[in-house]
Amino acid sequence: MQAKNYVYKIDARDRIISISPEWVTFAEANQAADLPRAVLGSSLWSHLYGAEAVHVYQALLRRLRQEECLLTVPFRCDSPGIRRYLQMVMQPFPDHAVEFVCTILREEPRDEVALLNPATQRDDRFIVMCGWCKKVQTSEWVEVEEAIIRLHLFDQPRLPHITHGVCPRCKHTLLSQYY
Ligand SMILES: [Zn+2]
Repeated sequence: MQAKNYVYKIDARDRIISISPEWVTFAEANQAADLPRAVLGSSLWSHLYGAEAVHVYQALLRRLRQEECLLTVPFRCDSPGIRRYLQMVMQPFPDHAVEFVCTILREEPRDEVALLNPATQRDDRFIVMCGWCKKVQTSEWVEVEEAIIRLHLFDQPRLPHITHGVCPRCKHTLLSQYY
């Protein structure tokens, strides 16, 4: 598979000012909730979920802009049928703009995970997923397939909603770049 870069850029006020065509195609193919064409000019923060994830992102951006360094962050961007391992390089530009270059490192097909399908019917329960590694919080943080077993979520007519947080391991990885 040829490695493609998915690039977007924000200005000093964290507004998205450019998106590469590959990113638009990728988002459309993965039925992104935010239609990419509506993304231009919007705030980066309107696309991120979970106070803790926002806090970590803000810390990274602050350091990047202060020190004008390059930050490389691993993350997952799964769809119901594919595990997708990516890397994001954050690079400072003049006037406090920041460019994000995301590259898919590898993809693993898997059986469709209904819990990850936006069309799945939900009840009033919530589970927490790490915004970076996509692990799910049970008594410990585990892959979504393992969480479904541990939380007895298979064969249920309705599944919990997913909210986003940051697992301790990712928090450590991300903030160790910060300190
Ligand atoms: Zn994580």
